[in-house]
Amino acid sequence: MIILFGAPGVGKGTQAKILSKKLNIPHISTGDILRKAIRKKTELGLLAKKLMDDGNLVPDEIMIELIKDVLSKKSRKGFILDGFPRTLHQAKMLAPIVKEISDEELIVIRIKVDDEIIINRLSQRRECSACNNIINLNYLPDATKCPVCGSINTFVKRKDDEESVIKNRLDVFNEITKPVYAYYKSVGEVHLIDGNYPVEEISKQICEIIN
Ligand code: AMP
Repeated sequence: MIILFGAPGVGKGTQAKILSKKLNIPHISTGDILRKAIRKKTELGLLAKKLMDDGNLVPDEIMIELIKDVLSKKSRKGFILDGFPRTLHQAKMLAPIVKEISDEELIVIRIKVDDEIIINRLSQRRECSACNNIINLNYLPDATKCPVCGSINTFVKRKDDEESVIKNRLDVFNEITKPVYAYYKSVGEVHLIDGNYPVEEISKQICEIIN
């Protein structure tokens, strides 16, 4: 089981998607699950929307039940977690859940990028409202046509990628999520990757760690 850990905007989702294809194991993004719930206007979605729009965390009890439910339906072959755990409590609760469903080794990889770069990346990030593909205007300046589904003019900025919210998300990461890194370091090895390099280079480094 692989945990991709890091602040918002370091490239966890991008790397998780690449890795999921390469290893043929599921990519579990709690942010994606919550956004889907918001689109479907489920009870979970209605509860999570305001918190997410403001860049705050969804309460632990809800997230732990959610991850329990999702993991119980996944194969025992392994999976990639992106966006979970985000609090110390989540990290401590995850261990027994994983033990029950898999005897796979836990690989924790932290991707680190400077805050100024994160702010730039997130403010340039857009999501295709048709297929939820994520692009970055720094690399795809003419974002009229989605390169994945071909839809025209469907790119929107996520509410939590507004600059005022990005700042709060970074504060939340530094205050609440960062201690998870210290926790994993205290119980085992954490692989640290410099996320300032191109996507392919980071992906190569992640594969070397896993191999
Ligand atoms: P992400 O797409 O991973 O950046 O997540 C977007 C938002 O979803 C976060 O800012 C939180 O509001 C919420 N979220 C995702 N994962 C978690 C989690 N493990 N714990 C609490 N909130 C979460």
